[in-house]
Amino acid sequence: MERRRRIALYGGTFDPVHVGHTALARRLLEQFSLDEVLFIPAHVAPHKRDREVSPALHRYAMLALATQGHERFRVSTVELDAPESPYTVGTLERFVATTGREARLFFVMGADSWQEITTWREWERVLTLTDIVVVTRPGYEVGTSHVTRAIGERVVDTRGRGSVEEALNEEGGTRIYLSDAVVMDVSATGVRRAARDGAELGEMVAPPVAEYIGKYSLYQRGA
Ligand code: ATP
Repeated sequence: MERRRRIALYGGTFDPVHVGHTALARRLLEQFSLDEVLFIPAHVAPHKRDREVSPALHRYAMLALATQGHERFRVSTVELDAPESPYTVGTLERFVATTGREARLFFVMGADSWQEITTWREWERVLTLTDIVVVTRPGYEVGTSHVTRAIGERVVDTRGRGSVEEALNEEGGTRIYLSDAVVMDVSATGVRRAARDGAELGEMVAPPVAEYIGKYSLYQRGA
């Protein structure tokens, strides 16, 4: 049987994209034998409206700069093109409708998103529409006590396992894979703070992203 393409859908605010994001994407390519990682900048994630988010064009441009050199990384404008429908459930439905037949889709979320998943619109549907990869992140527990038992039963803990291929071949619908793909203590909040303080960004973001932040004086007020 022909193997279906595997595409990771990696949503986020990406304000800005940093090396934690790209290192994670690179590791997932290997661990899940992915064909593509699609970065999906959010119009403005509904749960993050408590601070000023940079204009979508800046966030998109930085993602394009950070991913350009990697042939399996791509940036999607699907959420930026449809800002009236900013919820993940709508985005996933769209991908399932357009590519769900020819590709196996994995929606990627960090441990922080997983912890607050029950606040997301139609969260149980989000966790069912596609396979999910929950990746560990420093400082966050990855438990299942906050989700329903039905969801908890679909969780597969691949942490500490070299290969996940066997787990991926189990039958019976979509799963939620817990992964220890990468543990890199970098956050966009930290990057914004460093930029505001005039610190070097070299280790935290790709060089062209650091240049871009400097050139357009991003993150100079607020954070
Ligand atoms: P902020 O500091 O503004 O909250 P962030 O660094 O978490 O931003 P997002 O754009 O919100 O960046 O991240 C998109 C996704 O990537 C989220 O699911 C988040 O959990 C995950 N993520 C971000 N940084 C890391 C990291 N260092 N390691 C693993 N996952 C990460």
